[in-house]
Amino acid sequence: MNILFFGPNGSGKGTQGAILKEKFTIPHIESGAIFRENISNGTELGSKAKQYIDRGDLVPDEITIPMILDRLQRDDCKTGWLLDGFPRNKNQAVKLDESLKEAGIAVNIILEILLDREVAKNRIMGRRLCVNDNNHPNNIFIDAIKPNGDKCRVCGGDLKTRSDDQDEDAINKRHDIFYNTETGTLASAYYFKGLAEKEGIIKYITLDGTPGVKEVTAELLSKLKI
Ligand code: AMP
Repeated sequence: MNILFFGPNGSGKGTQGAILKEKFTIPHIESGAIFRENISNGTELGSKAKQYIDRGDLVPDEITIPMILDRLQRDDCKTGWLLDGFPRNKNQAVKLDESLKEAGIAVNIILEILLDREVAKNRIMGRRLCVNDNNHPNNIFIDAIKPNGDKCRVCGGDLKTRSDDQDEDAINKRHDIFYNTETGTLASAYYFKGLAEKEGIIKYITLDGTPGVKEVTAELLSKLKI
């Protein structure tokens, strides 16, 4: 099962992605997480990417596209993958499509979480990351997933914030990129939506991201019929 996952920052993609990863036993490939891992490990890729990430800009395609295409060639992707955070602009979508077609690999499902921009922004600012697992949901502004004091509600681990989550200008920039239907992330989603309509083999599913985590998961599972 090969899945592309779209949604603005703050829409709960990470949380729902963790569920899909379990259900289908596929790797959850998050471009942002790969960059963050490289930054914490002090790699050359990490140091190149950091300046862009801190400003809320996209890391240049020359760095990002090969990084993801290489990742998709690893052994654990042979039975499928869930790609989250890539493609993020039209060019990345075209390059991904070309590369998959060359390799004879089809996208099976495209998921798009729909969420109002202002709601997404508040959710980002309230987000807290568990040091043990990025996908343990904790958000100080959402009752259902409020942390236990300053500890993770799932495992009790310490919590931290992402530096690019507390900077309003950086959040606005990230959302400008996401909601741009001409060249940005929605353009890349619609590029694949166009293929889904034309080629008929890809299923395009939209989810309402407004309710709580449980409701979004229920809609996800019912639309996937699993
Ligand atoms: P995320 O965790 O998805 O919010 O990504 C964090 C940051 O990593 C983004 O704001 C970008 O700076 C960078 N990034 C993640 N994915 C991509 C991508 N597909 N293309 C370029 N930059 C990316």
